[in-house]
Amino acid sequence: MKTSARGGVTVGAQAHWYPTATSRRLVRRDDAEWVLEGTVHARRCGELTTACGLLAVDWPMSFYEPFAAARGDVCRSCVRTVVGV
Ligand SMILES: [Zn+2]
Repeated sequence: MKTSARGGVTVGAQAHWYPTATSRRLVRRDDAEWVLEGTVHARRCGELTTACGLLAVDWPMSFYEPFAAARGDVCRSCVRTVVGV
């Protein structure tokens, strides 16, 4: 998929980093939603590796919210890269 369209939700400089992990499961809420399992890393659309350098070619990504809003077991190395802490 290739797109150069601008717009949509923008949350500062972190807008293009999305959560990714090795696996995911479907959680039943009002709307069905995929929730990532295990350590959550940050990854950009179209990139093969996470922010911390792991090869994540076939890892599922979540586009519901930016990485900065990810909860649970978040990779600290990715946080440092994305948020700059
Ligand atoms: Zn990471």
